[in-house]
Amino acid sequence: MVAVFAMAAKGFAQAAEPAVEISFTAEAPPELREVATRWTERAKKAVAAYYGEFTVDRLRIRIRPKAGRRASNGTAFGWRGPLITVSLGRDATDNDLANDWLLTHEMLHLGFPSLPERHHWLEEGISTYVEPIARARAKQMTPERAWQDLVEGLPQGQPESGDRGLDNTHTWGRTYWGGALFCLRADVEIRKRTKNIKGLEHALRGIRAAGGTIEVDWPIERAISIGDQSTGVPVLRELYDEMKDSPVAVPLDDLWRQLGIRMSKGVISFDDTAPLAQIRHAITQP
Ligand SMILES: [Zn+2]
Repeated sequence: MVAVFAMAAKGFAQAAEPAVEISFTAEAPPELREVATRWTERAKKAVAAYYGEFTVDRLRIRIRPKAGRRASNGTAFGWRGPLITVSLGRDATDNDLANDWLLTHEMLHLGFPSLPERHHWLEEGISTYVEPIARARAKQMTPERAWQDLVEGLPQGQPESGDRGLDNTHTWGRTYWGGALFCLRADVEIRKRTKNIKGLEHALRGIRAAGGTIEVDWPIERAISIGDQSTGVPVLRELYDEMKDSPVAVPLDDLWRQLGIRMSKGVISFDDTAPLAQIRHAITQP
């Protein structure tokens, strides 16, 4: 573990263009290889827009060609070097993949350590929450569209009856969107306490700079304490203690009002006079 950590830390210091190797598990036409290369570049740019640079210095992407035009079944691995496996439709074009979220989601897993099974909600929550924000910052979607994804998705993360907190409730909704609720609360609270100078991204950048990538296994405590050291405020600690074994519902409608986010007939609009409008702006601004 120590040896892996030292190697990873050395790699970051060099911070050169990451070596990305794309391979296919079956015959793929040259056009599909080119589409996959551009798709990979877009996802890398989104991750770099959030983290300031790409999070690992080498990455293998293994693509399984399938029928159709979409991407599906993405998984990120850290064992023996960062690896993403994903299925991709043989007929996919740049246009089909322009709004794809999957590869950005998987790439966001690379810059965070592997946690024990019961804390997977934090790994998935980070990828789920940051993915639309990273793509908005890279100008791959509008801030309105990014917030719409969150406004529509996050209610699926609220606790249902019988919930025993994020560490003990391993449903799909609590793992992906429950983890994302934790991240949204953390982002807003860090910004409130730091005059909007620091946000969740600074906690995540600090964790990654300390060698916390998918290649290493960490206890959640280490990620929480390094994240909090990086922002200077103990927000992750407080929210984790609050949400880990209690069914905490997040008052989303009130939060949207404070952030100045209105949703009417499926259309998002912003209210810049809302008390936390500057925080909303800072989260998704390119
Ligand atoms: Zn994931």
